[in-house]
Amino acid sequence: MTVEASRARERRITREISAYYVENARQLPWRARPGAPAPDPYHVWLSEVMLQQTTVAAVKEYFAKFVSRWPTVTDLAAADEADILAAWAGLGYYARARNLHKCAREVVDSHGGQFPSTENQLRALPGIGDYTAAAIAAIAYRERTVVVDANIERLVARLFAIDTPLPKGKAAICAAMDAITPPQGVGDFAQACMDMGATICTARDPKCLLCPVQGDCLALVQGRPEEFPVKPPKKSKSVRRGRFFWIEYNGDILLVQRPGKGMLAGMRALPDDGWRAGADGDAVPPFPGEWQLHEAVVQHGFTHFALSADLAVWRGARRPPDLPGATWWPLDRIDEAGLPTLFGKAVRWKLAQEEMA
Ligand code: SF4
Repeated sequence: MTVEASRARERRITREISAYYVENARQLPWRARPGAPAPDPYHVWLSEVMLQQTTVAAVKEYFAKFVSRWPTVTDLAAADEADILAAWAGLGYYARARNLHKCAREVVDSHGGQFPSTENQLRALPGIGDYTAAAIAAIAYRERTVVVDANIERLVARLFAIDTPLPKGKAAICAAMDAITPPQGVGDFAQACMDMGATICTARDPKCLLCPVQGDCLALVQGRPEEFPVKPPKKSKSVRRGRFFWIEYNGDILLVQRPGKGMLAGMRALPDDGWRAGADGDAVPPFPGEWQLHEAVVQHGFTHFALSADLAVWRGARRPPDLPGATWWPLDRIDEAGLPTLFGKAVRWKLAQEEMA
């Protein structure tokens, strides 16, 4: 293909995707309609952080909860970290919630409560990586950046049949996205590509017959859209063993606050045996006594490993000893404790057992 033909093809792709968006944009609570004034940078930032590794459907509810409780970045900066972590419970990847708070405080302390407006300045804030900085700058400030999330990565890898495996192939994908990103309307264009990837150019069964750029898609010409983007060979995840401890007395359950550093830092949780990403737990209970063991009641996937956790239930008749930094929490209000998902699974399992007994 000549350079002119290639440029003409890129312009066609830009035009078709932009036109598709005007008619088919997803209505999302943090978005402006196509062509409308830019949305609030606080909303764009909050939604983008929440959307990292989480689906749009799950994020909608959390986004509404956060903006109603903390309507501005200044309100969020002034909140207690424990309240933010509890409100975040269920979204997973809790480092994001801690960085959210750090970032809000820095926006207030160093930028007078206004998000900075350039990709470079945004990237310097806690928890904001290359993608998020580019997305906020494009969507909230109309800066011409190159935005590549997982949906765009798939769409562009297919349009240009980029067959270098990820992560190396990312550079070619970014270059191709740069070539089709228009000089103006970059926020709408990025969101158009995100929507195309989420609804048309899906990971499985892409809807090529409905696709506005099917005539220019090299993966479709080659008859193998689902082979893009090319992934590196999968490593199998290690499985860690751990044990949670259920200590109940008089309708209350003993919860601990996890250490300020490491996995699920600062979160309320059931006491456990010290399992971590690099090692199994020691299975030793927090105090001696009669414990009833239920093996492998929780299976939970983390990014780099899986956890299989037992639940040991304390069977003593007298009030058990307190643990350092632990709290007695009413079992009938356990939903309000903001437990991370894997401990929530153990609680649900235990309560279901009691109902069946
Ligand atoms: Fe994706 Fe199919 Fe459209 Fe190509 S034609 S961009 S594979 S949906």
